[in-house]
Amino acid sequence: MNLTHPIIVGGGPVGAVLALSLQKKGVPFTMLEARAKGASHSDTRALALSYGSRLILEKLNVWEAVAQKATAIHTIHISQRGGFGRTKLNAADHNMPALGYVLPYGLLTQALDAALNEALGSGQQTSQILYEAIADDIGTTEFEANVRFTQTEETSLAMSPLVVVADGGRNFGDIAGVEKETKEYGHDALVSKVKAELPHNNIAYERFTPTGPMALLPNGARDFSLVWTGEKSKIDALLALDDATFLKQLHAAFGDRVGQFLSIEKRMSFPLKLSRLKSTANSHLVIIGNAAQTMHPVAGQGFNVGLRDAKALADMVINTPEAQWGKTEMLQNYSQLRSRDTRGGLLFTDVLVNLFSNDVVGLSGMRGFGLGALELLQPAKNLLIGKMSYGK
Ligand SMILES: Cc1cc2nc3c(=O)[nH]c(=O)nc-3n(C[C@H](O)[C@H](O)[C@H](O)COP(=O)(O)OP(=O)(O)OC[C@H]3O[C@@H](n4cnc5c(N)ncnc54)[C@H](O)[C@@H]3O)c2cc1C
Repeated sequence: MNLTHPIIVGGGPVGAVLALSLQKKGVPFTMLEARAKGASHSDTRALALSYGSRLILEKLNVWEAVAQKATAIHTIHISQRGGFGRTKLNAADHNMPALGYVLPYGLLTQALDAALNEALGSGQQTSQILYEAIADDIGTTEFEANVRFTQTEETSLAMSPLVVVADGGRNFGDIAGVEKETKEYGHDALVSKVKAELPHNNIAYERFTPTGPMALLPNGARDFSLVWTGEKSKIDALLALDDATFLKQLHAAFGDRVGQFLSIEKRMSFPLKLSRLKSTANSHLVIIGNAAQTMHPVAGQGFNVGLRDAKALADMVINTPEAQWGKTEMLQNYSQLRSRDTRGGLLFTDVLVNLFSNDVVGLSGMRGFGLGALELLQPAKNLLIGKMSYGK
């Protein structure tokens, strides 16, 4: 298959936003997605969307389809266990309708897939989405990138001037010429959905404990999405508890702000690491989304940085003459454009994790001071909001 348009490997939210952005501007694409059509729609993992991500989805006419089901975060309450000081960020203080939103992954992919299908149906172009198409190998030459993929037991080779890897980082960590920088935290994140005694009132709670940060994000009318991070051994122990004991421990760690915890859904965990692309020597290949960078979930940055990757790359493809697609100059421009945001997101997240997870004597008092000072300093709050909402 010799294609003249971009190939996108991975039809998760980041790949789909790229595809839709291209399609809307009349640029055709081929997308390979390993899962069956619609298989991702039942994924209930909660994504934390920044206000900036909402704006991206609005431009693609996808926000309308999910707005009713997204839970707005009007306030972020930041505190630390065993220390004084806390701060609150309020959307109203920053003239925003919300600081962010919580949305099940499956609802977002469903809305994106519907928009893509509609756009494909009405388009004159040759775009295609191949489901159950698993990319096995990616290579590059001076002139093109090629993807070997398997679909219904048949293996094919597709060539294109631009191959975009958006596979969530599952398969192509080791493409020749791609160098990554990784920091293992040795921590896992436990995620689940919990019901509390008191309503959430659209408040997201970020709580820093000496063993790792935890977050409770409003999700739906009454529920919270829980993200509890800590050393793997501690998270494994929490996973092994029966529900009632787990909920008691959660209450002990989180405090009484939302009353007792009443019930919890299935608990899952995944390892936390910070990684980013250091350099890519390959022409004709771009890596975006979680495949390009992963972050600690403490500040809800990772997914939003990925969406901004997709938006920025789409704009660049649309504004670059076809003959230049995938050439070194275009890829360097893209990488320069994105590196500030990615680095900023990683640094911001890493500093938060290190500062608040360090139990050195005296630091807790300083953190309390820091949170107290942040409470008083509006410019500092503005900076924090800018970083969390738009990556700026
Ligand atoms: C277990 C887990 C839980 C998480 N929980 C949260 C959470 O609670 N909150 C939060 O904000 N973020 C969470 N994250 C992070 C969040 O899921 C990512 O930020 C987001 O999914 C990134 O989107 P993406 O499109 O880059 O990658 P993905 O969503 O991973 O999408 C990648 C797509 O590529 C496809 N694919 C993979 N390999 C191939 C291949 N070889 N060929 C073709 N297609 C392929 C996959 O089927 C998938 O559809 C979690 C991540 C994991 C792994």
